[in-house]
Amino acid sequence: MSQQVDTRIVGGTVHTPSGPLEADVLITGEKISGIVARGDATVAANTIKASGLQVIPGLVDTHAHARTPGLEYKEDFFTVSQACAVGGVTTYTDMPNVDPPTDTLELFEQKREIADRDSVVDWGHLCSPNKFDEIPKMAAAGVTGFKMFQVSGGYPHDPRIAMGESERVYEAFQRIADTGLHCSVHPFNQPLMDVMTRQAMEAGLPHDQHTFSEIYTNEIIWSSGVAVLLELARVTGARLHVLHTHAAASLRLIKDAKARGQRVTATVDPKYYHLTPADVEKQGPRAAPGGIVTEQPDRMRTIWESLNDGTLDMIDSDHAPHTIEDLARYTADPWTGPFGSPQYEYMLSLALTDVHDGRFTLRRMIELMSENAARLIGQYPTKGAIQVGSDADLVLVDLDKEVVPSDEKTYSKVGWTPYVDWKFIGGPVLTMLRGTVVAKDGKVTGERGFGRYIKGTPQQAMPLTGERAPGLMFEPR
Ligand SMILES: [Zn+2]
Repeated sequence: MSQQVDTRIVGGTVHTPSGPLEADVLITGEKISGIVARGDATVAANTIKASGLQVIPGLVDTHAHARTPGLEYKEDFFTVSQACAVGGVTTYTDMPNVDPPTDTLELFEQKREIADRDSVVDWGHLCSPNKFDEIPKMAAAGVTGFKMFQVSGGYPHDPRIAMGESERVYEAFQRIADTGLHCSVHPFNQPLMDVMTRQAMEAGLPHDQHTFSEIYTNEIIWSSGVAVLLELARVTGARLHVLHTHAAASLRLIKDAKARGQRVTATVDPKYYHLTPADVEKQGPRAAPGGIVTEQPDRMRTIWESLNDGTLDMIDSDHAPHTIEDLARYTADPWTGPFGSPQYEYMLSLALTDVHDGRFTLRRMIELMSENAARLIGQYPTKGAIQVGSDADLVLVDLDKEVVPSDEKTYSKVGWTPYVDWKFIGGPVLTMLRGTVVAKDGKVTGERGFGRYIKGTPQQAMPLTGERAPGLMFEPR
């Protein structure tokens, strides 16, 4: 008698860690139970046709702003996870800059309960390491990792959890190193930003979006933050993960640190290398990335090189929804107004378009958007891989599908996308999480509460020299 499984995905090109295979995927319960040749005799209760499609691991994204609790008018765990499902994201981790900010065990557990009820896809929480005594408690309770903001000013860069001072970063890193969990950091030299702002105003520059953008993305404001973080992480052994790495100087520092064997990872979000002055012209603050770095060819070249040479380990979403009304405050005063945009619905199509345009390969895209994030939170290969024994988290992708983003098709609560009327080539047609189809053809089919909490797995905190540590991902390509 032939073997019986729950589901067989038939006819697709399956992207395994060792390369693409023309094969069928067998799923039993929540797990991948086989990757077999087309002619294999295994019988399945359900068949999913994938001819002409790519079968890739579900995306793992470690940078969501779910806005809950306190800012539910912008987003909640149900809406953000629906946007994930249609966008091919099967696991996300959210951020602590909510109200009240997630910086105690009690607040972490409250938030976990809310998301447990609401999330359609798997999720984790990054908590603020602002209150040192809470760090070990949150770690013991299963926090996925930590998120530190060096940037301050005003919401969403909440001064209550801003940690710019190196002595405070040092103490937090010491305690985080003991947990073996990672710390994502928005690197920033806020005092330098304040000085440059004062000088700009004294020089008579207008108090507008353009002046703000020039200062906010000035390289030294980011790279001086990164330099200090790298040193503090090196001496404390904390697992540093650098966010928003768009500055060429920051990328050089990270590349050098990796070459010396320091355990550090870095990510960039697509708004920095895709949204242009023309987009801001057309869409106003909806398309404001905080600074138009796309105007600088040297910086852009460094970002694309870094995505390919391993200096950048990940592309993350920075899915950061705001209502259109809130964005008006950014136009009025960019120094205190919010900026950021919903990303989940179209982030995969945007990246597949980069694959189509030859910016990186599909294989590299899978590393950047699934594998490496799963490694960061210690979940690889349960997440981020199509192989026997892994969770059956997959996306069926049509590389030729033309995708035209529109506000109407979004699931994020704020109901808009910065990519209106762009033309993408490639997109997800089906998303499966642990064996269950959670989205199909742009519609969510997964249920509220189906998502499961994902703990961070403690990993070797101190850098190893000369050998590969579990989850280490900085070897040069
Ligand atoms: Zn963010």
